[in-house]
Amino acid sequence: MPEQNHPKISLLDVTFRYADETEALRKITLDIAPNQVYVLFGPSRSGKSTLLRLLNRLSDLTEGAQVSGRIALNGQDIFSPAVRVAALRRRVSMVFAIPTPLPGSIRENLTYGLRMAGATDPLMLEERIQQSLVQAALWDEVKDRLDHSAMALSGGQQQRLCIARSLALQPEVLLLDNPTSGLDPLSTATVEDSLYELKRSYTIIMVPHSVQQAGRVADRAAFMLDGELIEEGPRDRIFINPTHERTESYVTGRFG
Ligand code: ADP
Ligand code: MG
Repeated sequence: MPEQNHPKISLLDVTFRYADETEALRKITLDIAPNQVYVLFGPSRSGKSTLLRLLNRLSDLTEGAQVSGRIALNGQDIFSPAVRVAALRRRVSMVFAIPTPLPGSIRENLTYGLRMAGATDPLMLEERIQQSLVQAALWDEVKDRLDHSAMALSGGQQQRLCIARSLALQPEVLLLDNPTSGLDPLSTATVEDSLYELKRSYTIIMVPHSVQQAGRVADRAAFMLDGELIEEGPRDRIFINPTHERTESYVTGRFG
């Protein structure tokens, strides 16, 4: 069967407890299909970041935390001893809320990870630079100044550069945790627009900064509350015709 018919990521009964016993995720079961923007939304402290961080095992870095249940990437258990964490994090790549370009040129930002991974072929590096910038919808704006400092870019450009930096390593899944939180509306729109191009090649799982943004970018969405998945489904059903009263209250702005 072609891979398209399988979920890219699948969670079964996933429960996550921090060392202080906070149950940040409770029995989450969820399938995420490839090549779409899947949005995790809900009030703060509902477990969205915890869930994202589990998907590439950044959660391993949290001392004393406990996870149960199963998480699979392309059908393979990500906690299996056969999975190397560094390789998993290249396949499932996290972009954080605040853009964090490295000091150095745009080009250096994009080749750093590849060089760390051992790449030296200049032709291949140039190809990756262009390809990742095109996919992150930044190429046209920076193609004539690849050797200029990344710090001179606007906030929206810096965030797209950070997305491009992840893409240069050819991941399968991009995790975006509130990627436009620090951006003005125009820069936010450029990042949102880049998602349309990105989902052709990648699976995107994103925590939005608002319900409005969730409704704009999602193909499918999951509403989370206090560590539980209340409901999930296609965008129009979740935002126009939700099943659960709590989802409806939240999307219509009655609480948040
Ligand atoms: P969200 O991203 O939806 O705001 P989080 O995943 O950050 O939610 O948090 C979910 C719950 O886990 C909250 O109750 C939060 O206080 C708790 N939490 C988050 N990080 C930690 C941590 N490192 N140690 C203990 N509790 C944490
Ligand atoms: Mg969060």
